[in-house]
Amino acid sequence: MKLLRRTCKETAALMVAREDRALPLGDRVALYVHLLVCKTCPRFEKQLLTLRNSMRQWRHYSENDVDSAR
Ligand SMILES: [Zn+2]
Repeated sequence: MKLLRRTCKETAALMVAREDRALPLGDRVALYVHLLVCKTCPRFEKQLLTLRNSMRQWRHYSENDVDSAR
């Protein structure tokens, strides 16, 4: 199981990287395993998802602004 061990710092980096690109299967599994055993990282993941959702909404709003300006 040592292969699947990640520190919180590594896990956080993986979660951020996941926003931009698909992770290799090994990283995805390690991330999943870490989130199961860690108390802190799931909280960070939740914040990251909230941030991503608001970014998407913000992008959506600004696209609408461009449309209405035409
Ligand atoms: Zn952690």
